[in-house]
Amino acid sequence: MDQNFNLHTHTYRCQHAEGDIDDYCKFANKLGLQSLGFSDHTPLPDNRWPNVRMKLSELEDYCKKIDEAKEKYPNMRIYKGMECEYDQSYCSFYKEELLGKYELDYLIGSVHWFPYNSKWVNAWRSEAKPKYLLAYSQYIIKIMEAEIFKFIAHPDVFAAFYLEEDKNSLACAKDILSAAEALQIPLEINGYGFMKKEVKTGNGFRKMYPWHPFWQLASEYKIKAIVNSDAHKPTDVYGCIDDALKLAETYNLDVIDDPNLLWRNS
Ligand SMILES: [Zn+2]
Ligand SMILES: [Zn+2]
Repeated sequence: MDQNFNLHTHTYRCQHAEGDIDDYCKFANKLGLQSLGFSDHTPLPDNRWPNVRMKLSELEDYCKKIDEAKEKYPNMRIYKGMECEYDQSYCSFYKEELLGKYELDYLIGSVHWFPYNSKWVNAWRSEAKPKYLLAYSQYIIKIMEAEIFKFIAHPDVFAAFYLEEDKNSLACAKDILSAAEALQIPLEINGYGFMKKEVKTGNGFRKMYPWHPFWQLASEYKIKAIVNSDAHKPTDVYGCIDDALKLAETYNLDVIDDPNLLWRNS
């Protein structure tokens, strides 16, 4: 284990993960992690995409269980967060409810769907069209500009629907990296991608993400990377973090080694 924290952890509440707060804490504690951040898929005020996230009615219990864990595991720093889809109309909920009333420590900006012509397109399953790449990059830049997210989860997930490395996908990567540099927002190398099945491209098989050309390009920008497991079950609380760190090392990326840096100046 080459890192002592993970800030991307789900619970059973999102309906596609296993285990509750204490199960993850127990396992993290056994591994000797110093910091653990919970970031389940956020409930949304308009109940959009209800099958892959917690319900609004579960928010209170989620927060309570994390607060209890903070007491129960004084040797670990435990953070209360949420993985968030973006829409302008959600901003007041994120700021006033999640960060305000519920006192969450952090929010992660994350794309699973992106808007195109007033419709939401699935980032894992859309057709490989350049117009979608453009919509994706414009959308993710808007998320960075919202200034409510501590980092962006799997920014390279467009490589899940656009399989080829060509001028379009490289331009998409560059647009995202330039914005991250200008706005100084860290980008996540997502460990969960290493656990997923491979996709077949014109250049052979590869993981959907992390997408190597993205991270290779990243080394040309002044950006910080953050490595997380994106755990969906307690035994994966550390998951493939070491694989993601190895990728970062390959491309000589500047990886955040102290999660508390994210909280400084805020
Ligand atoms: Zn998930
Ligand atoms: Zn996640």
